[in-house]
Amino acid sequence: MNDPTSKLRTATLRAKSDVANKLISMFLHELSKKICREWGARVDSEEYGGLVRLRFGNHCPYCLCDLAATTPVVEHLDGMNRYRVGLHIPGNVVIACRKCNSEKRRDDACKILNLADSGWACFLSHDGNRCAKPCPTCQYWETIWIDETERKQKLSANLQRIQDFRKGFSQFEEVMRPLSMSLPSALTHLYSDCQIFAETEIASLLQKF
Ligand SMILES: [Zn+2]
Ligand SMILES: [Zn+2]
Repeated sequence: MNDPTSKLRTATLRAKSDVANKLISMFLHELSKKICREWGARVDSEEYGGLVRLRFGNHCPYCLCDLAATTPVVEHLDGMNRYRVGLHIPGNVVIACRKCNSEKRRDDACKILNLADSGWACFLSHDGNRCAKPCPTCQYWETIWIDETERKQKLSANLQRIQDFRKGFSQFEEVMRPLSMSLPSALTHLYSDCQIFAETEIASLLQKF
């Protein structure tokens, strides 16, 4: 690990996985557009924005901060990556604060989740008692709600609120059930094909220069 060239190798590997992850995100966005067209539903409609506001007010669904006083970002409850297989469709898109959006990525990037069966539920399950210490997500929640009783109560209320929000999109569940069986293996193939393509194309171009 102290070998400086190991850093360079890691950087090259990361560049290739960035390309593959980008391709997966592009595919999931296109699939989302197709599903939305078939439903006649839109994430950017007034109606959907109203439903999100009704459920969460103008607050981050995770930490409850006032979004008017921070940098709001588009948040996918199920992350749009090969492990979480989230889509940009009604029921999965909310507005969160940038900090929670970035803190949640740790759970979203895990192949296997230990605390819950979705990335968002997992993120809200770090109550300080269930993880091997030190856990950065548990520590994050400790900075938001210092009192342990309050922290547990807020985390479980927020989890329930998101569950209730999702129940309002039964179509979403119907579409996702068969997809969640077949998509992960398709995305794993796309990921490895993209990396192989990148390697062989780079190798063949290198011959020319
Ligand atoms: Zn937040
Ligand atoms: Zn934790």
